[in-house]
Amino acid sequence: MVDDPGLKALGEAARLSPDNLPLRRHLAEQLLSKGYLADAEAEFRAALVLAPKDPDIMAGLAEAFVRQSSYGEALSVLEPLFAAGGYPPRVGVLAARALLGEGSVHKAAYRYHEAVSRDPSVADADLAARLVIPLPAATAPPVSPAPPQPAGTAYLGPSSVTHERSTAEVERSALGFADVAGMDEVKEALRVKLLLPVQQPELFAAFGKRAGGGVLLYGPPGVGKTHLARAAAGELGAAFVSVGLADILDMYIGSSERNLRATFDLARRHRPCVLFFDEVDALAARRSDMRQAHNRQLVNQFLSELDGVDQSANEGVLVLAATNAPWYIDVAFRRPGRFDQLVFVPPPDAQARAAILRILCRDKPLEEVDFGAVAKVTDQFVGADLKGLVDRAVEVKLQESIRAGRPIPLSTRDLLAAAKAVRPTAVREWMATARNYVMHANESGAWDELMPWIQRKW
Ligand code: ADP
Repeated sequence: MVDDPGLKALGEAARLSPDNLPLRRHLAEQLLSKGYLADAEAEFRAALVLAPKDPDIMAGLAEAFVRQSSYGEALSVLEPLFAAGGYPPRVGVLAARALLGEGSVHKAAYRYHEAVSRDPSVADADLAARLVIPLPAATAPPVSPAPPQPAGTAYLGPSSVTHERSTAEVERSALGFADVAGMDEVKEALRVKLLLPVQQPELFAAFGKRAGGGVLLYGPPGVGKTHLARAAAGELGAAFVSVGLADILDMYIGSSERNLRATFDLARRHRPCVLFFDEVDALAARRSDMRQAHNRQLVNQFLSELDGVDQSANEGVLVLAATNAPWYIDVAFRRPGRFDQLVFVPPPDAQARAAILRILCRDKPLEEVDFGAVAKVTDQFVGADLKGLVDRAVEVKLQESIRAGRPIPLSTRDLLAAAKAVRPTAVREWMATARNYVMHANESGAWDELMPWIQRKW
């Protein structure tokens, strides 16, 4: 119960004009700052109804949740902001607190560092102290700064003399391009770039092409970038090393660089290998955006690893990376031999959605299903949304089958019902964000592929 007279009066005023957004927002912020957390939560929710995409209101609501220890709720409120990229740095700190509350120390450390590197004023010493990740004693690197590096590079010398670890694992992918629906142009681009040089080196050489260099896949979240990378490894019969940020980022100065090296070395030991970096924008952000020298060092280290110590260092290692926010990536990464090819992975059209649904349902008990009909009602759904839809329909069918004591196959109706219940993720928001970043910054033609998509109405 709020007993502060000023707040009571504000609350009364908000009740009299419930559509007054600035008033509701002010009330919510006051409630939060005075510690009336449940009331603040309710007011932020009401404000969010009036302005569903306002990042400040989302952040306020998330903070109310974090302070009530409802970490999962906080993270789901913030999720659309991360999906669209370009979120305010203080939101990153908030997410770090929520992630830490959930016990995800690595992810929390990443979010925190990324946020602080973009805006040092959001630093929170208490939180930073709680984010220090203990390393196993045998491999713990020194806490002191790394020894001085030659100017302009951050290459750390032969692997045998450094303390390093790579938490990434080597996988064998059972997927091939046949498991990736649609994306014919994207697959073709990867085939030429990644597969032909290895499968038919003579042909490639005859055209004077040199193998090497990586591919940066970009597009809205959930369109299948990771899925595609895994399939490329399978198609090639190569090992697959998938690297998340938690595998690299580390609180200790110098350790992230060492982890990155160890990961490249792991891939080099397993050639032919597809080395895949997810959320690469965090590792390869524009150095001009970074205020902390050690983050810039990590970018330098990444560049030196991509270049390799000599011509053959990365032979047989195909580097793929994915990002939802390609505009944050330092242009140095786009030079020849690095991520010299940018490939846009678009949201699936109706035909591709039908094909994705067919793949997702292929090992399930099915009636004759009209995938085209389901594709028609799932405009703006990406692969991950369609997977959610199928999972949901299967779940419902499973319950029915248990009740009936026999397997009841999935039908078109089940999928249509699930389509109604699942909301697509943020393709429209992503396109709007992309438009903001790219529309007037395409002098080099780097975003040509994306242009028709962002000029379309979503
Ligand atoms: P992203 O990396 O772009 O965020 P993911 O690769 O994680 O997206 O996609 C999520 C899931 O959606 C995949 O695991 C896969 O099951 C499904 N999916 C996405 N796109 C496709 C596709 N084109 N064909 C088949 N399945 C897909």
